[in-house]
Amino acid sequence: MLTNTKHDWTKEEVLAIYNKPIMELLYDAATVHREFHNPNQVQVSTLLSIKTGGCPEDCGYCPQAARYHTDIKGNDLMSVQQVKAQALRAKSSGSSRVCMGAAWRNVKDGPEFDQVLEMVRTINKLDMEVCCTLGMITENQAHRLAEAGLYAYNHNLDSSEEYYKEVISTRGYQDRLDTIGNVRKTNVTVCSGGIIGMGENVEDRAGMLMALASLSPQPESTPINALVAVEGTPLEEQQPISIWEMIRMVATTRIVMPQTQVRLSAGRTDMSREGQAMCFFAGANSIFAGDKLLTTPNPDVNQDMEMFKLLGLEPMKPFVKKAQPASVEAQYSAYQDQGEKPRWTRPEHKIERNEVAKEAGKSLKAGV
Ligand code: SF4
Repeated sequence: MLTNTKHDWTKEEVLAIYNKPIMELLYDAATVHREFHNPNQVQVSTLLSIKTGGCPEDCGYCPQAARYHTDIKGNDLMSVQQVKAQALRAKSSGSSRVCMGAAWRNVKDGPEFDQVLEMVRTINKLDMEVCCTLGMITENQAHRLAEAGLYAYNHNLDSSEEYYKEVISTRGYQDRLDTIGNVRKTNVTVCSGGIIGMGENVEDRAGMLMALASLSPQPESTPINALVAVEGTPLEEQQPISIWEMIRMVATTRIVMPQTQVRLSAGRTDMSREGQAMCFFAGANSIFAGDKLLTTPNPDVNQDMEMFKLLGLEPMKPFVKKAQPASVEAQYSAYQDQGEKPRWTRPEHKIERNEVAKEAGKSLKAGV
């Protein structure tokens, strides 16, 4: 495991990072980002709602909860063919990952789960990363998903342990951690993040990042969402967060989870290109494409591709970041594979790179 991935963050330490003067915070986050990622590559993912609405849970932000009166149109589980068609369309628009979401409390063994497993096998054959977010799963179900070729399982912590209770009462924080633990017993990678703008304070944001960063290994993927307040949900009156809060959250996530794929998720329609560019600079390296994020609006693919062109960004190929923890040996090889001099390396990183190399029992070539 990389020696500089710290797992014992305290809330105070995370808060101190979050509250740094913005120029220092951005510089630190961008420096960490360049150490572990190519800053010019951003993964484009597509989120498909394979079963919409009618959920028995009471997540206060979610228009799919059956108990809230929203104008969401529910749908039964999609067919494998429908999912394949949408995945192919997503691939041709530049997506390298498909995340399938079902509005379930937990997965039940039976024909519907078998159908999801078939969807996983089908997308897997398209050479795309396939992710699912289906609610709570058992260890056995995690193994069945792994056998079908699932690349990632999403299960968000949503907020700090303390604030979680204010938003959701039908299951607890430990239930979330248990499902993440079940996924960790397989070779499926973990995607887990949360939402800001639900009325939580900055201590709660730091508490959520502390909980995520304390997982060992840390999640390979962390979505940071800004609440999209939907009429009819308990959080409908929440005011939108400012872009600076999102930038601070992304930058802090990048610093405490250096290897994680940080995903700029819900709430992007309210962000300017300048704001999104700052988030990429601060370490975000994934976006969700498509005009809908499960049920809430999202910028369309063409707008995103124009933004990529403007910023000189390129869509990341699939499977760039296989499961953590990357060994020191693998990290060393990754540097070697970059050839003469990775373009995102900077002289001040030489010390850390040499430490990586030393631990691998090798020495880096001078100037690399
Ligand atoms: S977030 Fe998921 S579990 Fe919660 S109400 Fe919505 S669909 Fe159900």
